[in-house]
Amino acid sequence: MKLLEIKHVNKSYKLAGKEKITVLRDINVSFKSGEFVSILGESGSGKSTLMNIIGGMDSDYEGDVIVQGKALRSMEENEIDSYRNDKIGFIFQSFNLIPHLTVLENVTIAMQMMDRGEKERIKRATEILEEVGLQEHVKKRPNQLSGGQKQRVAIARALANDPDIILADEPTGSLDQETSGQILEILDSIAKNGVLIITVTHSQKVADFGSRIVSVEDGRIKEDQSLKERYTSVKETEQKKGKSLSLMASFKLAIKNMQLKAKRNILVALGGSIGIFSVLLMLSLGNGVTGYMNDEINSTMNPLLVDVVKQVEKEEVQDQHGPPNQQMGGEPFSEEDITKISGLENVERVEKATTITGKTNVVYRDKNYELSALGTVTDTINEDNIEKGTLPSENEVLLTTSYAQSLSSNEAYESLVGETIKLFVNEMGENNQPLTVERELVVSGIYVQENMGPMEGAGVYVSYSTLEDAYSEQNLTLQPTQLNAYAANQGDVEGIKMDVEEAGFASSPIASMMEQVTTYLDMATLLLSGIAGISLLVSGIMILVVLYISVVERTREIGILRAIGARKKDIRRIFFSESALMGLMSGVIAVAGAFIISIILNNFLSNSFGAELIQLTPEYMLFGIGVSTLISVIAGILPSSKAAKLDPMESLRYE
Ligand code: ADP
Ligand code: MG
Repeated sequence: MKLLEIKHVNKSYKLAGKEKITVLRDINVSFKSGEFVSILGESGSGKSTLMNIIGGMDSDYEGDVIVQGKALRSMEENEIDSYRNDKIGFIFQSFNLIPHLTVLENVTIAMQMMDRGEKERIKRATEILEEVGLQEHVKKRPNQLSGGQKQRVAIARALANDPDIILADEPTGSLDQETSGQILEILDSIAKNGVLIITVTHSQKVADFGSRIVSVEDGRIKEDQSLKERYTSVKETEQKKGKSLSLMASFKLAIKNMQLKAKRNILVALGGSIGIFSVLLMLSLGNGVTGYMNDEINSTMNPLLVDVVKQVEKEEVQDQHGPPNQQMGGEPFSEEDITKISGLENVERVEKATTITGKTNVVYRDKNYELSALGTVTDTINEDNIEKGTLPSENEVLLTTSYAQSLSSNEAYESLVGETIKLFVNEMGENNQPLTVERELVVSGIYVQENMGPMEGAGVYVSYSTLEDAYSEQNLTLQPTQLNAYAANQGDVEGIKMDVEEAGFASSPIASMMEQVTTYLDMATLLLSGIAGISLLVSGIMILVVLYISVVERTREIGILRAIGARKKDIRRIFFSESALMGLMSGVIAVAGAFIISIILNNFLSNSFGAELIQLTPEYMLFGIGVSTLISVIAGILPSSKAAKLDPMESLRYE
């Protein structure tokens, strides 16, 4: 039976412009297994073109190439790929070995596209390399070998998948006479096993070695001459199944490639990591600061508390000429308001509170002291913060540490506890005549005011009833400017808040300010992360460019891989793995960097600030690595598909 038939094949190349050159004219020839055919012709007679057509590298021709009864033209792209992989073994004049793989790997790579385990691949490759006499060189790289040795590696690679046909394009063209003879002997011994060998040559001497000479001239077959009988031994064919390069194998290849250009790849990964690194740092900082703020809020505020204020339109405030109680927090509540709030569902009790600013002063030991704000004691005062003494009961006063310090110029401020001070509030009576509310008070304790950020606390605190009592002595009514409504359960707090707002009141400015601060913080974090994200884009583009360069650099390698049966998919996979690895690497660098920097900064911050403000969570780390990998995989899509789309023949000719 005929193994290979070529029927009426014509081929012409289109040159630049409309010019066409016809290279093959009506080629009709057929071959059987065990033949050692030499295609003999001068340079430029179309021999390589014919080889490429037979090898399934070039499908742009007229006529038919039929292998074991099946026309190449009728095959799907996948079938052509596996045809190249397991039916054909290619040998080139210029060897076309992959320089960064060892001799052994150059042979096993052809088998990676086959359904064989790694151990078996290595065993088989070692056997073949032994057959061609290279057992001592399996670990070497191609550039450590002589030309003859290189060609033996190429032969071993061609044999790797046990092909039916070996196509050798000027296999001895770069070798001296003696080495040429050895290579031809090896090819002959392969033919002995029932393989069809087709070599191309322009040397009559080389051609004479085979069993048959087909001479071509100007694209036509001039002569077909049999020298001796073909080998008739039947090649034992095992059932072979092509498969695509496993993901594992493509990752291994990618790692090898990246090691080859290690310096460049490390630099690129480092560059790529900067974007992720800054995003991570911004996110962690935002997270840390927000957490810190929340802790502060929660430690100063009772979770059961809904603080209510009465707000007026801004213009209204301006129209009023000095309201009777110029108090902080908003408008004073009327009795009616208080009843309304107390009557809301789930409200357990209501506490009155006020802060009087700008019209109070204190006299202590006959000396007058300014007091910017006077507050009333509420349940929100944290008793843990009383450094000496107790909360004030009737006719007692609680001093903040800083105010106590200003009262006691020389002595220790703690000794103020138990002392008597006099408090004055300057008010207006009914007919705008000035009135002074005054009261003698015993200092009950010293209180460490918590840092409330932009809100300043009062300097001294008295109980609401004491202040109310002092006001009534002057026939004045003290009206609260803040009501603290307490819920029985934390779950009721939100509901009460809504009811309060529905009733026309607002939550306290402290709470809403804190809320606003948190919102601004979130916005700032988002903005900063966004800006950091721009460098992500830059690193994505960088990886894209580097992969493009890599595709161009490796065009020839891609051609070789395609010639030995790699599918488009396999090529795409190799580049895809590289981009994923690159992203993974920069992600890991970024996370490691952010981790180290966060430790250093936190150490510094907790020394000077008392808080670790950079909270890098495991989620953020995973996020960083994930995003980095994703970005470079996306950046790798274009170069990978460019690599996959390269024409195998053209890639091989690429220098
Ligand atoms: P040989 O291998 O016998 O030296 P080739 O098949 O390589 O011959 O080339 C035959 C002719 O076709 C030559 O004239 C060559 O210049 C031309 N040729 C080969 N490949 C191409 C191509 N890709 N585009 C245009 N012309 C080509
Ligand atoms: Mg040629």
